[in-house]
Amino acid sequence: MSLGEFDIIHKYFTHATQHPEQILLSVGDDAAVVRAPAGYDCAIAIDTLNAGVHFPLDTSPYDIGWKALAVNLSDMAAMGAIPAWFTLALSMPQTDAGWLEQFANGLFALAQQYQVDLIGGDTTRGPLSVTIQIGGWVHQQKYLTRSGAQAGDGIYVTGELGDAALALALLKSNQLQPTDDTAMLNRLNRPVPRVLAGQQLVGLASACIDISDGLSADLGHILESSGVGARIKTAAIPMSTTLRQRSASGAQALGYGLFGGDDYELCFTVPPAAEAQLLALSAALDCRITRIGEITGETGLWLVDANGVADRLAMRGYQHFQSNGNST
Ligand code: ADP
Ligand code: MG
Repeated sequence: MSLGEFDIIHKYFTHATQHPEQILLSVGDDAAVVRAPAGYDCAIAIDTLNAGVHFPLDTSPYDIGWKALAVNLSDMAAMGAIPAWFTLALSMPQTDAGWLEQFANGLFALAQQYQVDLIGGDTTRGPLSVTIQIGGWVHQQKYLTRSGAQAGDGIYVTGELGDAALALALLKSNQLQPTDDTAMLNRLNRPVPRVLAGQQLVGLASACIDISDGLSADLGHILESSGVGARIKTAAIPMSTTLRQRSASGAQALGYGLFGGDDYELCFTVPPAAEAQLLALSAALDCRITRIGEITGETGLWLVDANGVADRLAMRGYQHFQSNGNST
């Protein structure tokens, strides 16, 4: 890049490693070298955020940095992994010191919180795009997958669903400004990955996924991978007071809760015998955990209303819900 590619790397993306025993070689060589602790394997995930596709063009650089790492940490959470390192491929149209500083501030705020090291990357000129690859440690043969759900297991979600989709809709209709510093905007731009919850679910949950594309789509992945079906209850979908208040109707709020993307909560299944342990976990983590339904032997995803009437749900979004292209 014209304005010192290596200056940028040195100034913004070179930090002392937090795990010298694992990160043997970091930023500055042709490749990084990492070592898994004894008894662990490495789980690897990658996610790209493209400007105008995965985030609105006027998103602040701080939030872009935060979210690019958060969505990857969320994948580690879904595996029950201990996040350890990440690499960053950054493409940007021009070099802007103020932009880079804020981007790095958002990125490293989260990196420090979760003790993950940036160990390498690539810096290029082009349309704004951020790709992060992340690595984390999993106990050998002891991690969460999408494929272990069985008939009779309870279905649970962490936190509340739909806020991020509401925030995006409010932004698009000018009811929320990109400069607003509100809790609702943060639900879209600064998701908090459920890393600790994921780790604690290892050995307890039979299947797990993070909700990036909406509950119905992501629960659908568990059902497909596990070869099972599910019945979930309308009344049980956890939604915030703000979501209920600011949605045009109850049906719209439910639409966000079921089909809205970008929540980065966990959806997981637990065998009946282990359900009691979940209560203790929820309290210990200070994390809301809600039972939303049950896995069935018969395939298909069904939504059961307060009168016990079941409706078959599409597992890939809702026909009345316009695809917002904002999921990762
Ligand atoms: P190469 O030409 O061998 O691909 P580069 O010149 O692209 O290496 O990068 C030099 C060093 O800086 C490498 O160690 C690379 O991993 C690191 N690096 C490049 N861009 C970034 C970035 N955005 N964040 C962190 N490290 C980076
Ligand atoms: Mg390179």
